[in-house]
Amino acid sequence: MDWKEELRSLTQNQNNPSKLRFDESLSKHNYFGIGGNAAAYFEVSTVEELTTLAQMRRRWNVPVAIIGRGSNLLVSDAGYSGIVVRLIGDFNRLDFDQNRVDVGAGVSLPRLSKLAASRGLSGVEFALGIPGSVGGALVMNAGAWGSSFGDLVERVEAMTEEGELIDLSRDDAQFSYRHSTLKNYFCVTGTTLALTPGDAGEVENRMQDLYNQKITNQPFAEENAGCMFKNPSGYSAGKLIDECGLKGYRIGGAEVSKIHGNFILNLDSATAHNVLSLVRHIQDHVKRERGVDLEMEVQLLGF
Ligand SMILES: Cc1cc2nc3c(=O)[nH]c(=O)nc-3n(C[C@H](O)[C@H](O)[C@H](O)COP(=O)(O)OP(=O)(O)OC[C@H]3O[C@@H](n4cnc5c(N)ncnc54)[C@H](O)[C@@H]3O)c2cc1C
Repeated sequence: MDWKEELRSLTQNQNNPSKLRFDESLSKHNYFGIGGNAAAYFEVSTVEELTTLAQMRRRWNVPVAIIGRGSNLLVSDAGYSGIVVRLIGDFNRLDFDQNRVDVGAGVSLPRLSKLAASRGLSGVEFALGIPGSVGGALVMNAGAWGSSFGDLVERVEAMTEEGELIDLSRDDAQFSYRHSTLKNYFCVTGTTLALTPGDAGEVENRMQDLYNQKITNQPFAEENAGCMFKNPSGYSAGKLIDECGLKGYRIGGAEVSKIHGNFILNLDSATAHNVLSLVRHIQDHVKRERGVDLEMEVQLLGF
């Protein structure tokens, strides 16, 4: 038996929504719409399956990558030689208890944002325009308008490399600007957030206002992975790129957005190679002209 056979046997005769596919194109599973095939793509719906995957990874020495909605991801043109995992089913739990919400890592941020607002709970209004999952938002400490996901966290539930579920405190996760230490665990499975009670109408209006501002100032129609670079301390990456005259600069099918300099768009069947060449071009240009290093925010898979 090899790891593929074991994976197949794991999903046979199971009465759950888990889905397993081999040689699956990853371009369907990320917002850039770019990337080669994964040797296996597994939508996991139970903790038991996830535990088995953690153990298989060690036993077979097969690479496993957990992804969310793929909204902050650039996947290699060569794809990924292991198992790409997305959380569904049990990981889509969403339970409110007064001002707290226990939410699975698979839940989408817009869904969380809308449900919290409808209950008059404030804190995640900023997330309506962020197309990621709760797991991705925890790992990346996603944020906007001065709010970050980590600020709301009471506890994080994660799975260790051995397949054991553990609870982590906010301090354990060491949230900072678009960063946490949660990547050190096999998988983030959920969190408890503390929200602030308020008036549902007011929270909904604020959520909608922030969303409207975002879609006015950022590209939403074309495929992209959000901000390509982190804002260097004291600077706006988008402004630096704009000031260097790089808006609209193109390599292959990848172009710097004309609306917001920190977004790279896949306009015409761009490859990951096109995107990375454009990234290097921007980094070199900004360093030369402004003396500032731009660090990528978008995460790489399969490189
Ligand atoms: C149009 C657009 C607008 C955006 N606006 C914003 C914004 O305003 N603010 C902002 O911060 N971001 C923004 N983003 C980026 C992105 O949506 C966020 O970073 C989001 O939190 C990523 O979540 P995801 O589920 O898509 O993660 P993915 O892109 O799938 O993954 C990101 C990283 O997290 C890891 N990961 C994901 N889930 C898990 C898990 N359960 N366990 C362990 N590791 C995991 C992946 O391996 C990868 O390294 C935007 C993106 C787009 C396309």
